Amino acid sequence: MNNFAETARAAHTIGAPLLGATTHEVTNQPEPLSGYNVYTGDRALRDALAFHRPGAVGDAAEASQRALGALLGSAEMQTHARLASIHKPELRTHDRFGHRIDEVEFHPSYHALLGAAVNAGLHGTPWARGPGAHIERAASFLMFTQLEPSVLCPVSMTYAVTPALRSNAAVFGDWFSALSSTAYDPRLAPVQAKRGVTMGMGMTEKQGGSDVRANTTQARFIGDDAWGKRFELVGHKWFFSAPMSDAFLVLAQTPSGLSCFFLPRVLPDGTPNGTRNAIRIQRLKDKLGNAANASSEVEFTGASAWLVGEEGRGIPQILEMGMLTRLDCALGTAGLMRGAVSLALNHTAQRSAFGKTLVSQPLMQNVLADIAIESEAATALAMRLARAIDHQDDPFETMMRRVLTPVAKFWVCKRGSALAQEAMECLGGNGYVEEHGEGVMARIYREMPLNSIWEGAGNIMALDLLRALRKRDAKNTDRSADAVQALAAELDTTRGANASLDRFADGLLARFDDAADAGGDEAGARRLAQDVALAVQGSLLRRHAPDFVFDAFCRSRLGGNGPQIFGTLPSGVAMEAIIERAMPVGTPFDRLRAIGNTGSV
Ligand SMILES: Cc1cc2nc3c(=O)[nH]c(=O)nc-3n(C[C@H](O)[C@H](O)[C@H](O)COP(=O)(O)OP(=O)(O)OC[C@H]3O[C@@H](n4cnc5c(N)ncnc54)[C@H](O)[C@@H]3O)c2cc1C
Repeated sequence: MNNFAETARAAHTIGAPLLGATTHEVTNQPEPLSGYNVYTGDRALRDALAFHRPGAVGDAAEASQRALGALLGSAEMQTHARLASIHKPELRTHDRFGHRIDEVEFHPSYHALLGAAVNAGLHGTPWARGPGAHIERAASFLMFTQLEPSVLCPVSMTYAVTPALRSNAAVFGDWFSALSSTAYDPRLAPVQAKRGVTMGMGMTEKQGGSDVRANTTQARFIGDDAWGKRFELVGHKWFFSAPMSDAFLVLAQTPSGLSCFFLPRVLPDGTPNGTRNAIRIQRLKDKLGNAANASSEVEFTGASAWLVGEEGRGIPQILEMGMLTRLDCALGTAGLMRGAVSLALNHTAQRSAFGKTLVSQPLMQNVLADIAIESEAATALAMRLARAIDHQDDPFETMMRRVLTPVAKFWVCKRGSALAQEAMECLGGNGYVEEHGEGVMARIYREMPLNSIWEGAGNIMALDLLRALRKRDAKNTDRSADAVQALAAELDTTRGANASLDRFADGLLARFDDAADAGGDEAGARRLAQDVALAVQGSLLRRHAPDFVFDAFCRSRLGGNGPQIFGTLPSGVAMEAIIERAMPVGTPFDRLRAIGNTGSV
């Protein structure tokens, strides 16, 4: 027997490795995007904020956004986001003695995240603050989504229901200070004993969510008390997110039609801990993403609820709230897009293939620059809508809010999923891997479709735009009373800046008269919503983005057949400048940039 065979057999016998212990060195694997400031590196967001809220910019005024940006990019908060996503909420219907408790238990990291969002005042707080509060809140919400979007569901719902509660002055009086307080208090207790509260919304039933007129939950009048008209609710909700909220606004039928009700989780019956209201949690939804958020199915078995607004006027009431949750869908998706672009840039700046970093390869630059433009345009449109909501007393802004809400919700959310897929591909196989919650890109990808579905799915938004366009002034001249004039005035601010944008805007305005006719062209409503979004995005980028971003947007989105797959920017576009602008600050790549060692970008 030769020596080699003998040695091999001996090694096998005693279990020692044949060729030494080290199989390979791990190289060319990027450092994760961690310990960076989400705010300082987001030039698109900072420019939009400076445009809509000049007073919010400057070292002192920006301090709170910077502080939040540092917190949201920290390794500690990223760990909370990972843990909250993999340790899903658990339903406990009964205690061990058989009493119904209908409680959902969350991982401590969920509370850390939701607490941080409430501390930042992203829920009801702006309603207690002065001008500009909604714009600043919008910037913070967009950033927070990049850390963890699913805890923001109750935050958004609380933001949306707070102003609606004014329609029941007694309830509003008792709840407003807790709804707008920045203290996080998850205890189950009567409102008087709480430092802060959150609220949810219950519209959707099994028979239909878009068409809430089909709701069958019944409300029976019981009598008047300190909170107004008290009813007893019997029925169900098929989707009921954040069931651990302190109260909910829900829809139910009365003899006058669909009405809006305030439904607390604990009854105001004077007992120290309050008696639990008759809300039975049937089960939690097993969802594609949005894992940290509990979305439940519930039944009301004689639950006490108080009327909000007029009996029979539940739909307009809910639509008012829908404006605000839809804003958050657009902001949230813009935030997820920014998160996906940051991850793609961080990865491709550190990973090499065929002898060069990915970020310096021409075709990858085309993809990266294209998704960066899309992300910036999404931020611009969502922040424009936030401005319209902030300027509550300006009739023109009220009209813009009406028109831009369905447009931004439709278009930004539709583009989100396409962008997430492309950003994931920039990471190659690593992008597709979950790895116990470390795969942030995979989490973003699973989350993306949700903002497009809830709070009115894509078709519902496009049809809502048609309805908005029917708001016409008799003389068709008043931009505050006529939706088409309002859009024309918005686009006029940048007329002459770019021939493609002018042509695109002219073509669009010519189509509005048809769209505004009773009925409109329903089958063409998505195309219209897309084109309104593109025209307004182009105009906004003219106003607060650098020329090279504006030029690239117009050349790639406003000519030919409209937006194509990502990575199809025409030649001559300043791809490297766009990538440089979008690169997150404080990343390993950024540190290399500081010492001038980044290849060609
Ligand atoms: C994770 C999650 C959490 C949720 N949480 C809540 C919650 O807390 N509270 C709550 O009330 N709801 C909640 N929802 C429900 C959500 O708002 C609804 O699912 C959504 O509004 C769509 O309603 P639907 O599911 O009944 O679909 P449908 O109304 O059946 O719509 C299905 C499709 O048909 C389209 N469609 C409908 N009408 C038309 C038309 N006229 N023309 C063309 N197309 C049309 C829609 O755009 C949609 O694409 C949640 C949903 C999810 C996924």
